[in-house]
Amino acid sequence: MNEHAAPRVLVVEDEEDIAYILRFMFEREGFTVDHAVDGRQALARLDQDPPHGVVLDIMLPYHDGIEIVERLRAVPAWRSVPVLMLTAKAREVDIVRALDLGADDYVTKPFQPDEVVARMRRLLRRAA
Ligand code: CA
Repeated sequence: MNEHAAPRVLVVEDEEDIAYILRFMFEREGFTVDHAVDGRQALARLDQDPPHGVVLDIMLPYHDGIEIVERLRAVPAWRSVPVLMLTAKAREVDIVRALDLGADDYVTKPFQPDEVVARMRRLLRRAA
């Protein structure tokens, strides 16, 4: 990652209020934010303009977060893009599956938006 460029994150989240607060927090911390509202849009965005990091909700219309992380890791160019999953606390099976498929970290809902930003920053540092 070029340290002079603003890091770009793709937030994949269908819940509008959560997407809004994440965009607000990331932008406040100097990130550029792309937003996809469902799995289909996420795959299109990844193709057009690969981000430095992805915040990926698991429960999504069309392609869920599990399917997206699996597809992402199957493409050499995307294999090392940090992925932070968002998940409901009750879905621990999903978390294990996502981590097995190559997700780097996860946060359970409800979360502190600060924590999501801090975890992404850490993943990007590690990836740099
Ligand atoms: Ca969702």
